[in-house]
Amino acid sequence: MRRILATIIASLLAVVAVAQEQDFSKVEIRATHVAGNVYLLEGAGGNIAALVGGDGIVLVDDEFAPLAPKIAAALKALGITDKPVRYVINTHYHFDHTGGNAPFAGDGSTVIAHDNVRSRMAAGGAAGNGGSIHMTNKPADPAALPVITFDHDVTVHLDGEDVRALHVPAGHTDGDAIIFFPKANVVHMGDDFVRYGFPFIDVDAGGSVDGLIKACELVIATLPADVKVIPGHGQLSTLADVREYVQMLKDTSAVVAKALKQGKTLEQMKSAKLLDPWSRYSGDFINTNAFIETLYNSLSHRPHAPFVRHN
Ligand SMILES: [Zn+2]
Repeated sequence: MRRILATIIASLLAVVAVAQEQDFSKVEIRATHVAGNVYLLEGAGGNIAALVGGDGIVLVDDEFAPLAPKIAAALKALGITDKPVRYVINTHYHFDHTGGNAPFAGDGSTVIAHDNVRSRMAAGGAAGNGGSIHMTNKPADPAALPVITFDHDVTVHLDGEDVRALHVPAGHTDGDAIIFFPKANVVHMGDDFVRYGFPFIDVDAGGSVDGLIKACELVIATLPADVKVIPGHGQLSTLADVREYVQMLKDTSAVVAKALKQGKTLEQMKSAKLLDPWSRYSGDFINTNAFIETLYNSLSHRPHAPFVRHN
């Protein structure tokens, strides 16, 4: 748990202070076999899924730029292939998931993501829950931008696997993709599913709790019951874990929606401690009050920063 918290705090700090150099020298990349040709790589920032085979490597997310050589070394140490990372697929634009794009692209990888990932990375701008969680992202290095973007879905065929990226609208952000490896029976859910408690929903970047619920329900309804689930942050999980999480999202949303209907203000909801029955989800990053804000802003359709798509 301490390691998970440290990872989240590290990610948050990095988001808050883009320009400040974080010390990644102590971070080690741990590779775990998940199923078939798919591995889970954990270091700092978001989880990485790696498809590793004789034809080369596909990465889903790539943590932070300074970790790219360690990630490459960990992949090589698996002893499966000397071929490079040929494709990187980003689950969303947050730079604890896209930080390695520039170094991997520099080594010849093709970066793929939803249209809005590229647009948001290029533009920079506000991120947050519309309340106390607020960050400003600087425009990304042009070398870090995805060079292939998609609107609905895209499939990468490599190593006998069909890596399917499907856009799920307005969940954690407005550019989320869920990545399924059908042959290995593994899914990477990006930050639409996390294990650090109440989720961060980037309401300022078009995220919503309804979209998050829909994304999780789509996974539950359409993927095999025994699919192995890689969350955006935290330990390898199952569909039962996703079900429990989506139930919490629905129950907490219903409580805040009811209070909104009764005309309660945000401050009244906080003082009434509306989400105390779910306090076990309260974390260092998103505590109970921060999640009340998230739901309040998401459910009252508070307008977020205007955003123009460029595709
Ligand atoms: Zn994120």
